[in-house]
Amino acid sequence: MITEIEKITDESVKKAAEILRNGGIIGMPTETVYGLAAAGTIPSAVKEVFVVKGRPNDNPLIAHVHKNYDIEKLVEVERDYVYKLKKLFTPGPLTMVMKSRGVVCDEATCGGDTLAIRIPSHEGCQKLLREVDLPIVAPSANLSKHTSPVTAEHVFNDLNGKIPLILDGGKCTGGIESTVLDVTGEVPRILRAGLITKEMIENVVGACVVAEHKAGDKVKSPGVKYTHYKPRCDTCLYKENELEKAALRYEEEKTSGKTPYIMCRNAVAKYFNGKNLLNLGDTEEEIAASLYAALLEGEKKADIIIAIDMPSEKGIYLGITNRLRKSCG
Ligand code: AMP
Ligand code: MG
Repeated sequence: MITEIEKITDESVKKAAEILRNGGIIGMPTETVYGLAAAGTIPSAVKEVFVVKGRPNDNPLIAHVHKNYDIEKLVEVERDYVYKLKKLFTPGPLTMVMKSRGVVCDEATCGGDTLAIRIPSHEGCQKLLREVDLPIVAPSANLSKHTSPVTAEHVFNDLNGKIPLILDGGKCTGGIESTVLDVTGEVPRILRAGLITKEMIENVVGACVVAEHKAGDKVKSPGVKYTHYKPRCDTCLYKENELEKAALRYEEEKTSGKTPYIMCRNAVAKYFNGKNLLNLGDTEEEIAASLYAALLEGEKKADIIIAIDMPSEKGIYLGITNRLRKSCG
């Protein structure tokens, strides 16, 4: 199969919508990462997504809808705070898990009784979702375990020959996957941290907890138990109070004939002056937006990425540090 990359236009969006309605799968931009899209109402299409990615079949998919879609067609909204969160944070990088009405097929929810829903803000994605007017399931458009793609080219590098079309909507501005929030209970529960933070949700609802995923626990969001986001080179991770150790490691790797790269935020980059560097930028938003692109650049240039962890787990840092620990830890 030939994989075409097409910029978002009226024509390419119509073509993509046609493929999706006919049970095909495509690469689709969103503001977080690129998605591998299929109609959530067509079981064979959803199965194909799992096959193409090599995704474990107990890890459910998120259904994406356009901003005027009536989500109550898909789920039961049991908590009033859902409307507040929807009003403030969507379209945007917030996924809410609610009781499914069964419109989206069991293949997508992995037979569970809940469905995760997201309304992306990316304009090209909205255009496509309006055009198909169906819930579109879309996990990240990478091979399972690999780093998530934030450009059409990244998708092509993983899925060339396996899908007919990638819609090119430019580089993702968010850069890490959506916050996944269980909104079935009295207090919303973060299953996966992201750009919509615990603090932001607390401000609206009054309370919000972060689900802890410990070994042996019954996992609420199955995706979090898998190896994830791994670049195709060696990696290691040091804390910000271990910069000296990281620099030493760099020199050791170099002496043994390897090409090491340090990956860190700009505030600590000066410590590594003159060394190969993947600089993630200054603010939490910048760092989130550049993380996956840096890992994918690193796997091309480096034998080993020596990553430096974030300074805290507050705000967006929680989501960033979760990904860093999975990809490099
Ligand atoms: P991905 O599509 O690769 O970004 O992963 C989607 C994430 O959402 C995974 O961590 C899934 O486990 C999680 N997820 C999807 N649907 C549900 C659901 N119904 N309940 C809990 N977590 C979900
Ligand atoms: Mg993923």
